[in-house]
Amino acid sequence: MKKGTKSYSILKLKCPRCQIGNLFYNPGLFVVKDILKMPDNCPHCKQDFKLEPGFYSAALWISYPIVLLIFIPLISLGLVVNSMHSFFKYIFPFIVLFSFMLQIPLMRIARAILLHMTITYRPNGKIE
Ligand SMILES: [Zn+2]
Repeated sequence: MKKGTKSYSILKLKCPRCQIGNLFYNPGLFVVKDILKMPDNCPHCKQDFKLEPGFYSAALWISYPIVLLIFIPLISLGLVVNSMHSFFKYIFPFIVLFSFMLQIPLMRIARAILLHMTITYRPNGKIE
């Protein structure tokens, strides 16, 4: 992935404008604490991350289709495997656990996508 592309910036959870500052205090997709704690502004270019009150509730509508895209194939696969062999019932708890663990990166990525839909990338973070 190249710097300057939206996919790079979204997956690295970087500021949409400068792609240098982190969106979250605790960077990374898989974290256990401060999951949704974000600074008010980008630490690098000062881009406002709190665009309006309740801005991030829209992130739910972004994560929802992603969840469907991931889980419908997984559930279908599970049903097929289950009908072939009873082994599935032993791995089922791990799949549930895995699904819960996926919530954290999903919530973070949904917020990053929402910000990237709103703010355009400017190299060096310059304001027009
Ligand atoms: Zn920035």
